[in-house]
Amino acid sequence: MDAEIGIIGLGTMGSMAMWHLAKSGASVIGFEQFGIGHDRSAAGGESRIFRTAYKEGSNYVPLLKDAYKLWRVLEEESGNPLLTLTNGLIIGHPETAEMKKVYKSIREYDLDHEILSRDEAGKRYPQHRLQPDELMIVDKLSGYLRPQLSIVSAVQRARDLGAEIHSHTAVDHIKSERDGVSIYAGGKAYKVGKVLITAGPWAVNFMKELGDFMDVRRLVNAWFLQKKAESFNDKNFPVFTRESKGFYYYGFPSVDGNMVKIGMFTTEKSRISSPDSLDRAVDLQELAAFTEIIEKDLPDLYSDPSRVNSYMEIYTADRHPIVGASPWEDNMIYLTGFSGHGFKLAPVMGKIGADLALYGKTEYQVDPFSPARFIKAGSI
Ligand SMILES: Cc1cc2nc3c(=O)[nH]c(=O)nc-3n(C[C@H](O)[C@H](O)[C@H](O)COP(=O)(O)OP(=O)(O)OC[C@H]3O[C@@H](n4cnc5c(N)ncnc54)[C@H](O)[C@@H]3O)c2cc1C
Repeated sequence: MDAEIGIIGLGTMGSMAMWHLAKSGASVIGFEQFGIGHDRSAAGGESRIFRTAYKEGSNYVPLLKDAYKLWRVLEEESGNPLLTLTNGLIIGHPETAEMKKVYKSIREYDLDHEILSRDEAGKRYPQHRLQPDELMIVDKLSGYLRPQLSIVSAVQRARDLGAEIHSHTAVDHIKSERDGVSIYAGGKAYKVGKVLITAGPWAVNFMKELGDFMDVRRLVNAWFLQKKAESFNDKNFPVFTRESKGFYYYGFPSVDGNMVKIGMFTTEKSRISSPDSLDRAVDLQELAAFTEIIEKDLPDLYSDPSRVNSYMEIYTADRHPIVGASPWEDNMIYLTGFSGHGFKLAPVMGKIGADLALYGKTEYQVDPFSPARFIKAGSI
């Protein structure tokens, strides 16, 4: 045996699982096809939102609260600043389905928040121009994470604790056997007790028919210069999400002192045929939507982007992750399908992946994320 646990992909989830496994004293070996902290898949682009009032479902709130604590633990262990709290603004019409889900999570878990009318929001956060029928919810446990630094911090910490890391080493295939799993990577074979599949957009290569319930999507981010210095810093301009007149987008305070990053939520049109076909160039037509948003809603930014890039993420059919042992081989654990909202959860999901690999169980409620749900639906 080369290790108790092997990890396929040391991006967001793989790095965090490796950190937890190494902390627990298990022997662990991880493979990453690119460099550690690269920006070529789901974790690229400098910042990620952390939020607790959760439109994706109130059942995530206990996980988010524990993720918050674990981010602070990783900061302390690594000595790196990873999460900056800013408050989080949720802007939109009060009656949309998404807003109702946000209220539900606030109500069920008594989350610290404020609700601002359009006038109040205009006084406190004048950078945003609200429509007459819109309001703003302020989520008090919200801010932004530094994704690449988080991944490097977790991997470095795991390495210090004895984990074996193979960067620039793609796993070609894996084979489940009676006494463990063989991993074929970089022209060599490795034997481990169990594997964690944390390959993000490439996970379908290791998931048999479950791959039919997942698709890879391309997401564009654009950076805009502020018209007045310091008017979009992390003290006066919190992270936000907004659904407005057919656009669904999010943004960050300026991390570099000059530019504000804006991202669009995905649509069916963002699907790409495979992660290897990601087109990183962004065309004028794609940029037109961003320019329209800035001119309409954020007039204190210049509306021509200074920087653009595209990233990708793997989505499941119900937009909830796939977490648990493979229905076919119980020595393979899936931790994937985070559907555009996984980064903030990464340290708690890494812990869940590590517990499932080591003990076959977790203290967290992960039934809604079971791989078997697609099979139960009678679809395979
Ligand atoms: C543009 C964008 C914005 C987002 N914004 C937010 C946000 O604000 N807040 C939030 O919480 N979430 C956000 N998300 C979602 C979040 O970033 C993802 O859910 C999360 O990063 C997914 O992590 P992952 O580990 O599944 O994938 P990744 O981080 O991509 O990791 C997968 C890793 O596996 C490696 N790999 C794949 N195949 C192999 C192989 N065969 N051999 C070796 N290595 C392999 C890849 O190179 C990669 O490093 C966003 C996503 C995108 C794309």
